[in-house]
Amino acid sequence: MQFEAQRAIEERVAACTRCRLSSGRTMTVPGDGNPNAELMFIGEGPGANEDRQGHPFVGQAGKLLDRLLDEINLARNDVFVTNVIKCRPPNNRDPESDEIAACEPYLAEQLRGIRPKLIVPLGRFAMNYFLPRATIGRAHGQVAQSGDWLIFPVYHPAAGLRQTRMLNVLREDFQRIPEILATAERPVLPDLGEESGEAVEDPQGQQLSLL
Ligand code: URA
Repeated sequence: MQFEAQRAIEERVAACTRCRLSSGRTMTVPGDGNPNAELMFIGEGPGANEDRQGHPFVGQAGKLLDRLLDEINLARNDVFVTNVIKCRPPNNRDPESDEIAACEPYLAEQLRGIRPKLIVPLGRFAMNYFLPRATIGRAHGQVAQSGDWLIFPVYHPAAGLRQTRMLNVLREDFQRIPEILATAERPVLPDLGEESGEAVEDPQGQQLSLL
């Protein structure tokens, strides 16, 4: 994804009022990292630290994510990290389905722009975005295809902070990422704009060229 395209998404997210979460946020948390990453991590939504700083996974769960990445010789700059929703829910409650739906166009655009070889959903909310019927207890550590995307769900790092058993599972699942990535390929996406020649309405009602 072009740097400018990433900036444009960030700006639209910063101005977004598509759902009730916009009224309680301090900062939007669009996501960051390498816009041309082969590997993309998607969490649930910003917590208090992320809401203050405007970056994903900067609290305790983020420190664990950094450690897990380091154990497979990766750093934040190698990957792209974002969340299903870009604004913090009050008191860190679970995101509501209409909030996830309102935020969906931003994630869809990030996915299309980055075109990662492999997507690692962190926890059930991100997993269910791709695999609506899956349960994290069964689906973690298993490669799945969801439309254009190769998915490898793992437990949320916060679960690893709560229980050593979960941490061990998370670690084992992370250890498999390099071998999966080694044989994965960037998906070839249909060029949505070319056939119809039409521009698409973005969530803010602006015209987006998909070419
Ligand atoms: N938990 C998440 O799911 N996302 C963050 O950005 C931070 C904590």
